[in-house]
Amino acid sequence: MTTENMSATPESTAFRTALDVVRGVEPRIADAIGAEIEDQRASLKLIASENYASPAVLLAMGNWFSDKYAEGTIGRRFYAGCRNVDTVEAIAAEHARELFGAQHAYVQPHSGIDANLVAFWAVLAQRVELPALEQAGVRQVNDLGEEDWERLRKALGDQRMLGMSLDAGGHLTHGFRPNISGKMFHQRSYGTDPETGLLDYDAVRAAAREFRPLILIAGYSAYPRRVNFRIMREIADEVGATLMVDMAHFAGLVAGKVLTGDFDPVPHAQIVTTTTHKSLRGPRGGMVLCDDSLADQVDRGCPMVLGGPLPHVMAAKAVALAEARQPAFQDYAQRVVDNARALADGLTRRGARLVTGGTDNHLALLDVSGYGLTGRQAEGALLDAGIVTNRNAIPRDPNGAWYTSGIRLGTPALTTRGLTADGFDEVAELIDSVLRRTTPGTAKSGKPSKATYVLGEGVAKEVAGRAADLLDKHPLYPRVDLG
Ligand code: PLP
Repeated sequence: MTTENMSATPESTAFRTALDVVRGVEPRIADAIGAEIEDQRASLKLIASENYASPAVLLAMGNWFSDKYAEGTIGRRFYAGCRNVDTVEAIAAEHARELFGAQHAYVQPHSGIDANLVAFWAVLAQRVELPALEQAGVRQVNDLGEEDWERLRKALGDQRMLGMSLDAGGHLTHGFRPNISGKMFHQRSYGTDPETGLLDYDAVRAAAREFRPLILIAGYSAYPRRVNFRIMREIADEVGATLMVDMAHFAGLVAGKVLTGDFDPVPHAQIVTTTTHKSLRGPRGGMVLCDDSLADQVDRGCPMVLGGPLPHVMAAKAVALAEARQPAFQDYAQRVVDNARALADGLTRRGARLVTGGTDNHLALLDVSGYGLTGRQAEGALLDAGIVTNRNAIPRDPNGAWYTSGIRLGTPALTTRGLTADGFDEVAELIDSVLRRTTPGTAKSGKPSKATYVLGEGVAKEVAGRAADLLDKHPLYPRVDLG
């Protein structure tokens, strides 16, 4: 039983004082910041890509480092006066190298997408002789039409990228058309086994042999299992590809030594990208890890594809990485995985179907067609009951990428709040009880609709009350009392 007065903690004082200062200029923003912590405290957050950064991480971002331009790299800046930025970037990179056992770390990317773009250009620059843009007949990037892209791809040597398909859990930046990676590369994807839902390495190998990609990319946003990166590297080597792993989702499990050996991408891939704000629990941002052979190219990320680095965010990355090197983070990462298993088991026991039948990472993918619902309907009904999830396509989804047949459920955020396996069994109970009492709705025309739903009378209130009881037992930012 703690007797500490939470309104007098340094964290309470720091955030309260900061908000008072903001309130003096634009009170509506101070109010919105205050409202956001209340909303987050009150929501049962199961978004697999979100988390709660520590007060130390948050506070490291709110300062004058934000004012500094520092294009270039440590000791080689295009601006004067970057002594302290150099310190921050060097510390963040050192923590990243030590934590992940990487030869080189580049901590400037502003986000995961940016980190991937840095990595793509680094591999292209290392392996392809880039002709000048004019040679490719390109005028201005904004004017690029399909034919221009075609010419650019040709000028780059018609390079190919092989990545996981979207409905198997891959990410848009892995060569899909709405992202620039899909314009730069010819893309082909590998899926999962139709029976088991598991990654089929023989099929990946066969696709790689036939397609012969420059980059074989592994990593995912919605695949609930571990990936064997040793096998992926063997496949890449066999066809002369560079193995790139996007560990944005599971970086926290690598940092926390839950994913080791064949399941740790760093010893196997030539280049690894990540976000820092998901399971790694840092500030919003990205990072690239690579072996020495790619370091020079990766360090050209700014100004090649990135704007000036965000020194305040690099400071927060350094703090988060320092936290992730503590033994407590390994305990956290293990609990994230144990809790995902408890959630998956709880749902399965209640009759739900999970893609691949379960999970061995931080997320589970629930097929809601068994409840007679689309993902869109399930997402809406759960949100009405105070449970925040996101709809997600499942392999060979009959409802496509917009309505979907799945709900993605992740445990990193609620594990940070301190929920245990018992708590996640209760979460399973709440999810199941909402979905069982939800039926598909109709459109205004009276026709069946994939978007609307009818939630049984009183269900939202009842479940939201039970969710609130559960959350009350695990307060978010317990040391932050805004009064
Ligand atoms: N890579 C993967 C695997 C992701 O899941 C995501 C985001 O969801 C990203 C990259 C992009 O990250 P960001 O939103 O920071 O650009």
